[in-house]
Amino acid sequence: MTWKNEKSQQAFLRAKDIMPGGVNSPVRAWKSMNMDPVILKKAFGSKVVDVDDNEYIDYICSYGPLILGHSHPVVVKAIQEAAENGTTFGSTSIHEIDFCSVIVDAFPAMQKIRLVNSGTEATMSAIRLARAYTHRDLILKFEGCYHGHADSFLMKAGSGLLTDRIPSSPGVPKETAQLTLNCSFNDTLQVEECFQKYGDQIAAIIVEPYPANMGLLFPKKGFLEFLREITSHYGSLLIFDEVISGFRFCYGGLQNLLHIHPDLTTLGKIIGGGLPIGAYGGKEDIMNMVSPEGTVYQAGTLSGNPIAVAAGQATLHELKLQQNLYDDIELQTEKLTFGIQTLLQNRNIPHILHKHGSVYSLFFTSIPDVQNYHDVCKTDTKFFSTLFEYLTQLGIMIAPSPYEVSFISSAHSELDISNTLLAWDEAITKTHS
Ligand SMILES: *Cc1c(COP(=O)(O)O)cnc(C)c1O
Repeated sequence: MTWKNEKSQQAFLRAKDIMPGGVNSPVRAWKSMNMDPVILKKAFGSKVVDVDDNEYIDYICSYGPLILGHSHPVVVKAIQEAAENGTTFGSTSIHEIDFCSVIVDAFPAMQKIRLVNSGTEATMSAIRLARAYTHRDLILKFEGCYHGHADSFLMKAGSGLLTDRIPSSPGVPKETAQLTLNCSFNDTLQVEECFQKYGDQIAAIIVEPYPANMGLLFPKKGFLEFLREITSHYGSLLIFDEVISGFRFCYGGLQNLLHIHPDLTTLGKIIGGGLPIGAYGGKEDIMNMVSPEGTVYQAGTLSGNPIAVAAGQATLHELKLQQNLYDDIELQTEKLTFGIQTLLQNRNIPHILHKHGSVYSLFFTSIPDVQNYHDVCKTDTKFFSTLFEYLTQLGIMIAPSPYEVSFISSAHSELDISNTLLAWDEAITKTHS
């Protein structure tokens, strides 16, 4: 079947009239791909379908939540049952209590947890709590790490670290931006410099243990341990933002695999099973400061929503039950990335592959190593956008940005992988010629 997009184009024209950029989240507009986005109407398993009836093997997977693929039967059933028993209460339900204990049990460093409605809410609330707990105002984050769209995290990459800390979005007061230090990932010296200068003012370091919002990056050996040590030394908190990595690489967080205990952890994506949810949790004495036990205010009309909780609980239950699931999706990912790398190598196309578990990213660059945001920016965006267009037309859905990772789910079959590789072969051939 040949690819067509008349209906998507018509729908996107309508969308642009009523939504800024035609979307409800910027990356969906495909702006940097110089293409109009296809408009979806449904999804199942590893596939999404657009309004022109083109079917795509999906490697966006909603940017992380869908580790079981779209509309997994167990998750759908849980949602249906929950909906029949009340969609929201405004009072605590027994399901929330069960669900919270499931998560707390999965994280050795977590004694108490609070549910919210998105990853953004989780990180925003976590830094408020860290500031209250330490009686300090500064937050240290890393360039290219994404922690949602709250004011404190929207910092210009590459701005003068210790002097002019500039917001990356209009509408963020520069006074707020002044309170966020922006270091380069893997740069221990820079972090040390910040603590030497501001150590007694830094409330917390927030970090994605394996950054996955600028492609996938890895910490240098000892880097995360160093962050744990320096925060402890200066009485600051360490916050692991595991919104993507929570339950992605194992049952629990990366912190379980790395044996590092952060003071606070933020979660989202997978724990909602495809419905809106977020959570933050950690050590009891810190969490006890949250209202109403303590004085740090944070609330939510729909927090602990019974349908989101049901979807999340079904997902986590499935992840625990299917003992080989993590190994199986890792194996599929290995087959896929080995195949893609072979295709790229055969044509001498410079690239670096970063892969962990069921997440991978490709940097089209000839630099030897990609360690931080500066390196990430060396990727050939033009090559990527051409490749993206061909892949789309061949029925492969990857994120419309060279800085987003690809996700593999347990719904991706052997056949999906081999079909994906056939498409990549054709797309690379066309892009390269
Ligand atoms: C997606 C993401 C967030 C924000 O979560 P939302 O649910 O989109 O608000 C925060 N941190 C990380 C690491 C993320 O990947």
